[in-house]
Amino acid sequence: MKNIAIIGGGVAGLSAAIYALRANVNVTLFEQFGLGGLVATLDKIENYPSYPSIEGWELAQNMATQAKQLGLKQTRQKVLSLTKCDNGFCITTDKGQHTFDAVIVATGTTHNKLGIENDYIGKGVSYCATCDGNFYRNLDVAVVGSGNSATKEALYLADICKTVYLVANSELTGEQKVIDALLAKDNVQLVYGTVSAIGGESEVQYIDVFADGATTCLSVSGVFVAVGSTPATDFVKVEGLNMQRGYIVVDDRAQTNIKGLYAAGDVTNGPLKQIVTACGDGAKAGLFAASYSKTVK
Ligand SMILES: Cc1cc2nc3c(=O)[nH]c(=O)nc-3n(C[C@H](O)[C@H](O)[C@H](O)COP(=O)(O)OP(=O)(O)OC[C@H]3O[C@@H](n4cnc5c(N)ncnc54)[C@H](O)[C@@H]3O)c2cc1C
Repeated sequence: MKNIAIIGGGVAGLSAAIYALRANVNVTLFEQFGLGGLVATLDKIENYPSYPSIEGWELAQNMATQAKQLGLKQTRQKVLSLTKCDNGFCITTDKGQHTFDAVIVATGTTHNKLGIENDYIGKGVSYCATCDGNFYRNLDVAVVGSGNSATKEALYLADICKTVYLVANSELTGEQKVIDALLAKDNVQLVYGTVSAIGGESEVQYIDVFADGATTCLSVSGVFVAVGSTPATDFVKVEGLNMQRGYIVVDDRAQTNIKGLYAAGDVTNGPLKQIVTACGDGAKAGLFAASYSKTVK
């Protein structure tokens, strides 16, 4: 049987696994953490067709269970490098080296940082409201960012925390439905400005927000950073691979410009970064990578 590797066990990687396994090829999925990726950490998902509302972990678990029922064996390893070699692709992980006929990269993105929070990560600074929100029950917190992630994180925290300051350095750009729901909350305050400092003795106690030449100090116990993300591609060392601002460029078959190398989900240059598109990409990558691998001698 032909061997393909999937790097990343989020919804893109799991969808790729489901399609590749059904095409009867050997699939090795490398995931550094548990299966489910970012979705497993999310609160309610309300735009995945067939589920009007579902918890992120439940949706992720459903997909993982389906892939496992088809025979998926997860390899809990972090991929350190992916290179092209004579007989296919070489993957080096923190546990060893492997060769495959075809590879699907589905590693998503990593959170961007503000650059001033390093001393407080895990001491009041978080990148995931669903994971850590409960630690700030009835306390004052700030969410930093102006996009979809920031508004969703703030809305989630508004039901748990006493006050949520949403600190945005530009107009809010998230889904209008989420913005409207957020602004209707009595305990949410929209603050325009840039977070210039995070402080506190051993844990976060305040942030400074700079706007219009003045600095305002907000007393908070937690800071949730939601200022965008960067594609997780630093391990990809394939010469000549087309990339766009760090995202892997794919065609409508999820294929890169390198034969046998596919990519799916948030790590690609696709215009919409959502679960439903990641699953669609994964389906194409799984199917076409499997067909390609069968042509390799
Ligand atoms: C706050 C927030 C709310 C969102 N809400 C919604 C929503 O309501 N609806 C919606 O449709 N979308 C939503 N999204 C977007 C959605 O979560 C993503 O589009 C989706 O998770 C992308 O899936 P993926 O499989 O491409 O990547 P990911 O879910 O990021 O999975 C990538 C996986 O690859 C693994 N990985 C990375 N590097 C390596 C490596 N070197 N070795 C091994 N494993 C590696 C990671 O550990 C991870 O498990 C939201 C996103 C955020 C941030």
